[in-house]
Amino acid sequence: MIRIDLHTHSTASDGIESPTELVQEASRRGISVLGLTDHDTVDGLAEATAAAAEAGLTLIPGIELSSDSDDAHEIHLLGYFIDPASESLAQRLQWLTRQRRLRIEQIVARLEDLGLPIDMEMVERYAPGGVMGRPHVARALIEIGAAETVRQAFDRYIGWGKPGYVPRARVEAEDAIATIRSAGGVPVLAHPFSTGNVTGVLERLIPAGLRGMEVWYGEYDDNQRAQLLHHADRYGMIPTGGSDWHGAGFREGRTLGSVPVPPSTVELLMDAAAEAAGGQ
Ligand code: AMP
Ligand code: ZN
Ligand code: FE
Ligand code: FE
Repeated sequence: MIRIDLHTHSTASDGIESPTELVQEASRRGISVLGLTDHDTVDGLAEATAAAAEAGLTLIPGIELSSDSDDAHEIHLLGYFIDPASESLAQRLQWLTRQRRLRIEQIVARLEDLGLPIDMEMVERYAPGGVMGRPHVARALIEIGAAETVRQAFDRYIGWGKPGYVPRARVEAEDAIATIRSAGGVPVLAHPFSTGNVTGVLERLIPAGLRGMEVWYGEYDDNQRAQLLHHADRYGMIPTGGSDWHGAGFREGRTLGSVPVPPSTVELLMDAAAEAAGGQ
């Protein structure tokens, strides 16, 4: 059985391993097709692709873009086979990276007001790629002893509704899909239960160009995966899967290579990407 994992993060965004370390770890775990889907950046893809060629595994270039719902829920979109050299993509990502930094500055200011001794320099040390996210703040909070785990840092301080929480700049899911399509990518709904309304979101986003949805997600159990596979079949979505690995100990369930993604997923994504390229 070939091992496939299509949802991972590196130090280019908020993962712990560099793209090379990630690919090497994937290779050690017997993964033959790996998708790198860093948040709002394609900066890790060149290094990952080179490391993959060296290790003899296939690297699918990807990205993960975040958008909002009307409540605590979020809609995340994965884009597969995006062209990292796309100029329109680069411009959009530059704006998103800037917004990420502004948000983290506000979060850090709130935490300072709460009396927690952290600052931007500490957070920057955890975000060498310059694309900042709350997991970097979580690591700084662990460093000062305000939390023991990333999860605890979210639960106490920076998760939705917690005292250090600041909403991100509003991005519509349709915009994220358009961004992915403009770079020749195949748009896929990530961890669909995070949306709070799987079928409603599918009905809204399929007309915008959504082509697939995650079914075999790291944190979901067999029952949840069966439900999602049923929806994918019903709506004609390519069923995909990935662990959402950010490195060891990030969060339960998000274990690299732990997801039973069938080889047909890769073929369907490749066909959809070829179709997207042909239609341009
Ligand atoms: P951000 O992009 O700054 O909004 O941070 C989102 C990242 O934090 C994603 O990788 C999420 O998977 C992760 N995340 C969100 N909520 C939690 C949580 N409660 N515990 C651990 N990680 C989380
Ligand atoms: Zn992340
Ligand atoms: Fe996500
Ligand atoms: Fe992710």
